[in-house]
Amino acid sequence: MTKLTFQEAYSELVKLSKKLSYISSLLSLSGWDERTYMPKDGYKHRAEAHAILGEYLYDEWTKDYVGELIEIAKSGDLDEIQRSNIYWWEKRYKEQKKIPKELLIRHIKTSTLAYHVWKEAREKDNFELFKPYLKEIIEILKEEAQILGYKNEPYDALIDRYEPEMTAQEIANIFNELKSETIRLLNRVKSSKKDFRSYVLKGHFDKEKQKEFCKFLLEKIGFDFNRGRLDETTHPFATRILPNDVRITTRFYEDNISSSIFGTLHEMGHAFYEMGLNEDYFGTPVGESVSLGIHESQSRFWENFIGRSLAFWELFYNDLKKFFPQFENVKLEHFYLAINEIKPSYIRVEADELTYNLHIILRFELERDVINGKLSVDDLRDAWNDKFEKLFGFRPRNDKEGILQDVHWSSEMGYFPTYTLGNLNAAQFFYKINEELGDIYKLVRKGEFKTIYEWLKEKIYQKGSLYKPQELVQNVTGERTNPKYLVKYLENKIEGLLSIE
Ligand code: ZN
Repeated sequence: MTKLTFQEAYSELVKLSKKLSYISSLLSLSGWDERTYMPKDGYKHRAEAHAILGEYLYDEWTKDYVGELIEIAKSGDLDEIQRSNIYWWEKRYKEQKKIPKELLIRHIKTSTLAYHVWKEAREKDNFELFKPYLKEIIEILKEEAQILGYKNEPYDALIDRYEPEMTAQEIANIFNELKSETIRLLNRVKSSKKDFRSYVLKGHFDKEKQKEFCKFLLEKIGFDFNRGRLDETTHPFATRILPNDVRITTRFYEDNISSSIFGTLHEMGHAFYEMGLNEDYFGTPVGESVSLGIHESQSRFWENFIGRSLAFWELFYNDLKKFFPQFENVKLEHFYLAINEIKPSYIRVEADELTYNLHIILRFELERDVINGKLSVDDLRDAWNDKFEKLFGFRPRNDKEGILQDVHWSSEMGYFPTYTLGNLNAAQFFYKINEELGDIYKLVRKGEFKTIYEWLKEKIYQKGSLYKPQELVQNVTGERTNPKYLVKYLENKIEGLLSIE
């Protein structure tokens, strides 16, 4: 090609990046449709359509021409935004170029198969069915880690996909502290023999009423229905189609009111991040979210730090009673206790704010050993059960409530730690907000959610991927992810809960 100037090369990259983002937005739209309204049997050809579009995007991004553009653009005198965009483009380009297409296809095909086998194995409560597929997935992941390269250990390469530049060792250091503090707090709760009155949440809750109440909350908090919507699904998620089209989903159980409310608030947090990104940079990395650990910090922040606070229900409890008169005879404090019940359980997705992280630490430690070759898949189930018993004090009774409960291992490892990183980052941001805006719960009680949203938007959402995740945490809070904030928050919260009569 004729020699381009670095500015021309950069503009070409922006153009390409935007074009491919628009194309991939339709893939997101189709994915949303698949998980909400698509007729059941539509999945087969839909999967084909997704594979074709996915391959097209991969091919476009891995053309040698893209590499040449990056090389030219890199050589120029760039501003901060350009530098950052090029950093992410180059990172992705190099990684995609390294992984041979056959391996990529083997990964996708094995995942699709493994997903269906996992579902069957879970239903039949039989890990042996799933084991050969898990072995194959782990072989693929290990191969990918070797090809991608890593800082200290193979597992680092997998973590980097979700939490760029984070290492297993740094996570282990953080998690070890969190683990011992969590066990200490859990023992405190256990010895208190507290009755969290979870029975106040039992009863019949009309689905349509739940939907109305969730929409009511979203409106009050400031979710813009001109730029987003709420729908129903089996496994809730949030997705941005385009900057002014961000969709969230939730599920409704008629015998359980909390699932839909907190599920909605969780996905709303993800949506706020996506809605708050800088629209001018749409289609380039600086206009995209930076990592799962930051994304999850936003969902957890709105779900737990705000949604499960006493202040939040001081504001909304009377409204809840209007929708569900059965709460007429339940004291606010008792409702607050019930939605914050701390009760160790087998299942991660049903876990409370405290013990949730133990579920993640367990998975992180096992993944690390498996990927680094210290633990074989044949020993994985026993290792799971032993570790679980050590952390929780009781042993899974079967695979369904043990190693087969999560879908993740049918395709990936390295994803789980980002859930707890999200909790940790949320706590760190929470204390920073308190420092800069004053008592956050004062704002919540007055319904001044906009002030909180604007703070997050300015400090986090608008930055997109301008900084790497830990740089962002450092810029916003003055330090890297530090477990002491989450521990402090949980300790305060638990003492408050235990003091309620
Ligand atoms: Zn989430």
